[in-house]
Amino acid sequence: MANFYQKLNEYYRDLRFKAQSEAAENLARARKNERFKEIDNRLSDIEREQAFAEIANDNKKAEELEKEKQNLNAEADKILKSMHLTRRALSPVYACEKCGDTGFMGSKPCSCYKTALKKIAVGTVGVNLTDTPAVKESELTGENKVKAYRLMQKFADKFPDAKRKNFIFLGTTGTGKTMLAKDVAAKIAKRGYNVLFLSSFELNNIFLEYHSLFDADRNFLMSALIEADLLVIDDLGAEQVYRNVTSHYLLSLLSERELKNLSTFVTSNLSSEEILARYDERIFSRLFDKRLSAVITFSGKDMRLET
Ligand SMILES: [Zn+2]
Repeated sequence: MANFYQKLNEYYRDLRFKAQSEAAENLARARKNERFKEIDNRLSDIEREQAFAEIANDNKKAEELEKEKQNLNAEADKILKSMHLTRRALSPVYACEKCGDTGFMGSKPCSCYKTALKKIAVGTVGVNLTDTPAVKESELTGENKVKAYRLMQKFADKFPDAKRKNFIFLGTTGTGKTMLAKDVAAKIAKRGYNVLFLSSFELNNIFLEYHSLFDADRNFLMSALIEADLLVIDDLGAEQVYRNVTSHYLLSLLSERELKNLSTFVTSNLSSEEILARYDERIFSRLFDKRLSAVITFSGKDMRLET
């Protein structure tokens, strides 16, 4: 992940570029009309002549020019309309009119800044759940797999009202744990909930970014993770553990989400013993707290439920 603020700058620069190039394209298209081009040129001259008239205190001239300008604009509008354009579309239309897609009003962050932060923090990572094809029960083999599938469907339908908020999916690669977690996450997202599906690698990168941010931005970045209705951490254990970063922030993230009574899913190739060995014991006890979590262990074609 490139530097966070650099990405933020690029984000705004791209927005401005888009608005400006669209305006330039529209103007070039309009100026292909000879009469419009004439009017457009004359309007530029009028601007200049108006400035001179003002300096010379020549009110009569200024009024004449204003009248001419209005007539020309009216004619230009008609031409533009016939080309399915508007005068507004000839100047940049910024996504945020307030700051002109700079992110700042003077030295203060604009109201669009938080949205931009969130987009960059979590929008560029994670899985796009809208494209996730639904798992079909008929395609599942093994009694326990069907059982787990049905359990998860029930969870998705009842979400967020379930006694056990958390699911831990354990098992080796290719056993279908991520597929099932993604399927449930997509179903919950489709119901309109804010679902974040991240790999542990991406999550770890966010923790590292978090380390390098200004206080105000940091809180916002973490709040996107803390406040998601459902957070899925995929492939826990695949990331590199930075002792003062990974465990520290993971623990605080899990604790905050527990306090808010929000659901978290974790998938991992590791066994519960390996998770205990790799992370803080407090992380382990949060993940495997029987009152809050159900563990589904996938092995080969089958899976085991510990609920
Ligand atoms: Zn703005």
